[in-house]
Amino acid sequence: MTMVDVEARLAELSAQAAICTACRLSAGRTHAVFADGSAQADIMFIGEGPGYHEDRQGVPFVGKAGMLLDRLLGEAGLDRRDVYIANVVKCRPPNNRDPRPDEIDACKHFLVEQIRLVDPAVVMTMGNFSTKLLLKTTVGITRMRGNIIPWWGRVVIPTFHPAAALRSGPTMVETVKEDLELAVRTVRDRRAGREPGGDGPAPEQHEQAPEQHEQLGLFG
Ligand code: SF4
Repeated sequence: MTMVDVEARLAELSAQAAICTACRLSAGRTHAVFADGSAQADIMFIGEGPGYHEDRQGVPFVGKAGMLLDRLLGEAGLDRRDVYIANVVKCRPPNNRDPRPDEIDACKHFLVEQIRLVDPAVVMTMGNFSTKLLLKTTVGITRMRGNIIPWWGRVVIPTFHPAAALRSGPTMVETVKEDLELAVRTVRDRRAGREPGGDGPAPEQHEQAPEQHEQLGLFG
């Protein structure tokens, strides 16, 4: 598939999400929030779902949390246009509650296709929700963050959600920055054919059980 084909397919999926009524979240949305960033990205961020500002603007990770993410990306030598940013569900859950299992089921084909098409080397799950869902774990984000976890031919590096980092303060912000830097090093090391995590502090490795690669089995 050429990059033009990938971008065309992503645009088609985004248009489908914009008019999707497959779950109850469609009733309360202003905009479906499909993604932002580059279809050629090496790093893909996955959050939980759109919040108030995202729903209003139709763009993921805007508002104060998005500004923090943009700043930390900049400090890691990246721009939002260099990465790909998406959420587990594309429409805002009321009062920012967690998405429900049937909503995730209805929406997951979009995210599965986004991962398949963008094909990032590193997926950064942001926060407890997307980390537990994608990795099928009950281990909390505080223990999972900063680890390099092999996952379907790529790696997941969980980190705190920028909104949580904003609430918590400078120490957690610094931790998200470290995790971003680890992701950048991991991409560089994978390109160079070295073990991921190369020059930085040795991260703990959690192996996911090898399974047949069935895209719809990625999560949920
Ligand atoms: S959350 Fe997903 S499945 Fe539900 S209406 Fe929005 S796009 Fe469709």
